[in-house]
Amino acid sequence: MPLGGVRAMNVKRTLPQRGLPTIGAWCFLDSFGPDRTAMSVLPHPHIGLQTVTWPLAGHIRHRDSVGSDVVVRPGELNIMTAGQGVSHSEFAVLPAGGELPLQRGLQLWVALPDGDRHREPAFEQHRELPRAAGHGFTATVMVGELAGVVSPATVFSPIVGADVSCEGDAVLPLNPGFEHGILVLDGGLAVDGQDLPAGPLGYLGTGRSELRLEARPGTRFLLIGGEPFGEELLMWWNFVGRTHDEVERAREDWEAQAVLPDAETAAARYGLVPGHGPDAGAEAGRIPAPPLPGVRLTPRKRAVD
Ligand code: MN
Repeated sequence: MPLGGVRAMNVKRTLPQRGLPTIGAWCFLDSFGPDRTAMSVLPHPHIGLQTVTWPLAGHIRHRDSVGSDVVVRPGELNIMTAGQGVSHSEFAVLPAGGELPLQRGLQLWVALPDGDRHREPAFEQHRELPRAAGHGFTATVMVGELAGVVSPATVFSPIVGADVSCEGDAVLPLNPGFEHGILVLDGGLAVDGQDLPAGPLGYLGTGRSELRLEARPGTRFLLIGGEPFGEELLMWWNFVGRTHDEVERAREDWEAQAVLPDAETAAARYGLVPGHGPDAGAEAGRIPAPPLPGVRLTPRKRAVD
């Protein structure tokens, strides 16, 4: 999946999948890198979701329409709540000269439940996250709770996200009411005698109170989970909605902002991301919405237990 146009980074999308639109409220998982292509994603809109950015290598500058302008580094979490509408940009932080630094990271979306999806946009950065440890593992708890350790990140449904390091035999306590997914980042592991290498997303259904695994030395993986999300989502481009008409309106609102002067853009649905005006050089501009397909959009159905 190319991200951000011609000089695109190589991105691997492991969620949503056919038959598996969500794991808990997690509705999107991209991993990018490691490579030396600089991330440059111009302002674009979101609705109905939270974005979760977790760099593994390299630094990313995040700017958004709620006034944030921050750099996020490995070990730090950006979590942006789009609610009824937000826009943001993401650029690799490059050194003044010399070789591009290695870029690697994870970008995830969390669907907002119906009661929270029209809220005002918000942004949080967590520069220090709590660490959990147990039999054969240590983990950074990005969101939710693992092994009694709770992340300070604001979420709107029962979910967990953790960056886990382990080797040999490990046992992680899980919430049996949650379904879970595992994305191996480094090394490899086996669950229930089945090998899971780096790359594909492993899916674990509900009903597990622990995860027993056998890991190669230096194994690191992303654990995501949550209560199965009961609402059907209509995902198109950067929008998470429920109906075709709502997504069409979200698209029209973004396109309409293209021709507004800055002062009016700031007051419009998606606001204004500072620093991308006509004099911003390579950072000038915005990402236009693609055309809608000629058919009515429908929610993705779940076909996995
Ligand atoms: Mn985005």
